Amino acid sequence: EPILTIQGLKKQYSAGTWGLNGIELTVQPGEFIAVIGPSGAGKSTLLRCMNRLIEPTEGSVTFLGEDVVHANKRQLRSIRARMGMIFQHYNLVYRSSVLENVLHGRLGYIGSLAGMLGRYPEADKEEAIALLQKVGLENEVYKRADELSGGQKQRVGVCRALAQKPSLILADEPIASLDPKSSKTVMDAIHTNCREQEIACLVNLHQVDYAKAYATRIVGIKAGRVVFDGPVEQLTSDI
Ligand code: ADP
Ligand code: ADP
Repeated sequence: EPILTIQGLKKQYSAGTWGLNGIELTVQPGEFIAVIGPSGAGKSTLLRCMNRLIEPTEGSVTFLGEDVVHANKRQLRSIRARMGMIFQHYNLVYRSSVLENVLHGRLGYIGSLAGMLGRYPEADKEEAIALLQKVGLENEVYKRADELSGGQKQRVGVCRALAQKPSLILADEPIASLDPKSSKTVMDAIHTNCREQEIACLVNLHQVDYAKAYATRIVGIKAGRVVFDGPVEQLTSDI
């Protein structure tokens, strides 16, 4: 039983500008999938249409049996709580502490009342700190997010997504702004935790070598369409 099914998904940005041209995609529980393709292929649009950070123009997205495309605001909030998102530019709240940033994820969405008042249950704090320790940020817990390096910021982004206890993580070019050493640390953090917690992951990568190193399945996108979908071993050089 797939956790995510996408059928005929299209996104038109404006007359003549298509981000997606009819995507078909199914994700099974716990799968680690790399989405690859040239710049402008539609990778980012695809991930953002899955949780409606971008509104799709046509087609269907079904996540854990729910119709994402027609979900109302309340339903969408609940859907997003089960879909963790990791962004290229981290999207942290920079004047807040590292711990608070992770706790924002525990709430499942950004900007809740408990979050704004800074009232978090002790158990949630302990869990968040344990996650931070696991990715090597035990000495950064109470620092402001803007004091961290890029690689550290992204590990906070990873912990925020994991703290949601999602069924699926969507990582949109998580290492595109990082040096090779930080890239490996961040990819290891995503990969290890997703495997241990049986979280499915779709990660956009423009570097094929990272896709090959971490993913079991590769989805190649070109001009808004899936042009390859299979195991790493079947990947040919022309994608
Ligand atoms: P990728 O993530 O693979 O680089 P994108 O999803 O960012 O690709 O872009 C897919 C296509 O949609 C490109 O042609 C891009 O120029 C276009 N596009 C993306 N975002 C917008 C936008 N906000 N407005 C108009 N066109 C956009
Ligand atoms: P509103 O619906 O009033 O904008 P939300 O709390 O739903 O309030 O969302 C606030 C912002 O955070 C929006 O831009 C939304 O798209 C984004 N957002 C909400 N939940 C998530 C999530 N799980 N992952 C990533 N972004 C999210």
